[in-house]
Amino acid sequence: MNNRQLFLQHVAQTSDAPLALEMVKAQGMHMWDASGKQYLDMIAGISVCNVGHCHPAVVKAIQEQAAAYMHLIVYGEFVQSPQVQYATFLTQHLPGSLNSVYFTNSGSEATEGAMKLAKRHTGRTGVIAFKNSYHGSTQGSLSIIGDEYWRNAYRPLLPDVLHLQHNDMGMLEQITHRTACVIAETVQAEAGVLAPSVEWMQALRRRCTETGTLLILDEIQCGLGRNGTLWAFEQYGIVPDVLLLGKALGGGMPLGAFIADRDIMWSLTNQPVLGHITTFGGHPVACAAGLAGMKALLSENMIDGVFDKEKLFLSLLQHPKIKAVRSRGLMLAVEVEDFPSAKKVIDYCIANGVITDWFLFASNAIRFVPPLIISEEEIRQACAILLAGLDTL
Ligand code: PMP
Repeated sequence: MNNRQLFLQHVAQTSDAPLALEMVKAQGMHMWDASGKQYLDMIAGISVCNVGHCHPAVVKAIQEQAAAYMHLIVYGEFVQSPQVQYATFLTQHLPGSLNSVYFTNSGSEATEGAMKLAKRHTGRTGVIAFKNSYHGSTQGSLSIIGDEYWRNAYRPLLPDVLHLQHNDMGMLEQITHRTACVIAETVQAEAGVLAPSVEWMQALRRRCTETGTLLILDEIQCGLGRNGTLWAFEQYGIVPDVLLLGKALGGGMPLGAFIADRDIMWSLTNQPVLGHITTFGGHPVACAAGLAGMKALLSENMIDGVFDKEKLFLSLLQHPKIKAVRSRGLMLAVEVEDFPSAKKVIDYCIANGVITDWFLFASNAIRFVPPLIISEEEIRQACAILLAGLDTL
């Protein structure tokens, strides 16, 4: 059996139609399959490879750290330089109240940790989330995602969760002194790139402050430069109480984090001690990779070009079959009639060397979330292939 057949046989499947492409190398904007065919990556492993694949500084950091030490002990006991250095670097680039970083293995685990933190800090149980939000696939995070189709098969889930309409001022009074936390994606990604208004986000912040509710912003997908500023919340003039990061945080290695003020984080240290336990969270190799990735992101000014690149995409993405293009920096959703149309165009793109896909809660939209290093020529190339795919509809 070849690797593709073994993949179908022995790697647990969660889809009846996996892409099942076998890549053998990835570098910068590109991947190559076993036949040597080159692909332009327009989804960056779903917002992970913001600095491109195998950035040399990230590879070097991984090699050096792996040679020094890998896993030593469970989270939180030893002083591990890559973890300390990355937590310090992150907090130097965040508002002063976000000064304590809990590193996790994944975005879902960051969501779980933050929800636990909110319960402990406030002594309350209510959690408010929003329709069409995605926060992960473990049972706690599944309880708060905003789509009944994806949730329902796994009931019973967490009680005391309320899903409000996103970006709706009228809903905010449902946040009360009983609410432990409100959790929102700063920009809803899997909904097909839905950005709330500045007024709504500021009203949400005010309501949380009034009621003593922790505001948790999930920037697992939209953070680290993706939306054109280092943090998406900067564009709203607010600061969350807890920030969730993941995906691009590890520079291509598995890493998540929930970040809060150390006074809030303190509640994880008592009754019970070890309020959140993780064996591998903050793995030194993942932290070394993430730190090198974030340093490259900033020192190579990768975020500076994001808004101009977005503009170029918007000027090129014109076609009678496009119903709408929604964008926030280099996070773009190209909406077409329905899923079969989107799928046909996606298959055409992949056959023609452009990797793209759709969104979990917007299957009629095609995803363009490339590495931030994409060049003008590569934007033109990807759009030309997408438009040719739309011509086949
Ligand atoms: N939040 C958001 C906004 C996400 O996009 C994702 C992953 N798609 C997660 C949370 C969960 O992250 P992970 O898959 O690493 O658990």
